[in-house]
Amino acid sequence: MCALLLVSTAAQAASGGKFVLVIDAGHGAHDVGAMGSFSYEKDINLRVALAFGRLVEQRCQGVRVIYTRKTDVFLSLSERAQVANREKADLFVSVHTNSVEDGHITFGCETYTLTTDKAAFNLGIAKRENRITVYEGRGGKEVGFDPNKTESHIMFEFLQSQNMQQSVDFARLVQKQYARNGRVDKGVKQANLQVLREIAMPGVLTELGFISTPEEERFLNSDVGVKILSTCLYNAFCDYYAAYGHPNARPQQIALSREETARRAPKPVEGEGEAEVVPVETKKKAEEPKQKVDQTPAPEQKKIGTGED
Ligand SMILES: [Zn+2]
Repeated sequence: MCALLLVSTAAQAASGGKFVLVIDAGHGAHDVGAMGSFSYEKDINLRVALAFGRLVEQRCQGVRVIYTRKTDVFLSLSERAQVANREKADLFVSVHTNSVEDGHITFGCETYTLTTDKAAFNLGIAKRENRITVYEGRGGKEVGFDPNKTESHIMFEFLQSQNMQQSVDFARLVQKQYARNGRVDKGVKQANLQVLREIAMPGVLTELGFISTPEEERFLNSDVGVKILSTCLYNAFCDYYAAYGHPNARPQQIALSREETARRAPKPVEGEGEAEVVPVETKKKAEEPKQKVDQTPAPEQKKIGTGED
């Protein structure tokens, strides 16, 4: 049924033809996120989020960038998702920084999508927030859907699984860029994250690195670190936009010198025991990966910040 294949462009069509990218810098204000020896997660997230958005604004015509926050302010997880839903975003990218328990040293980046566990899906939100318009052929004819009809339910389920697939595609593109640019690639993972559960479009939560590892904290706070990480996100977005954005869009990726990035990005040295470490954000709330799909029990969370309860 060709109508089904066209729904992915519905949000875009709804925003006057612009592809809407929502960038979410995790935490803010009193919710500092993870803490390093000299910096807070919230500040790293914001710098990288703004730098990523600036690259998209400068280089991708046809994309509207919306930030959940541009300054050091607090937003709840639901408020962040609401921004994306209200703006009919085509893609949601939440930027975070990782941390592990005291004394452990670990390196690298990982990107989360929502778990495929059916229980995690919020079909109610999908029904309310997804723009259900179908464009039939050139010119487009808008068709409304009654959320209570069986065929609409099938449509919503289809949308959800399509969002899931596109989220995983973007997460893979992000990890590919991290790996290409000298970062340790910790892979694409899945978790039941509230902020991803409440959005009605493809979305990921990416962890830029470990603030608890001294070399990584220095890197995350350095100009070159912000440049490398924001470029990774931008380059991944270029590939995603070429695949799911405007058919003729070919935004140009930024080439970082491989030698340069490999030298700058911190790497573990042998014997640092990376393998035994179970990553867990030293913060509260379900925003961060707690339940992996493999159900590894997460160590007790340290309470940092006074975010939501
Ligand atoms: Zn975080």
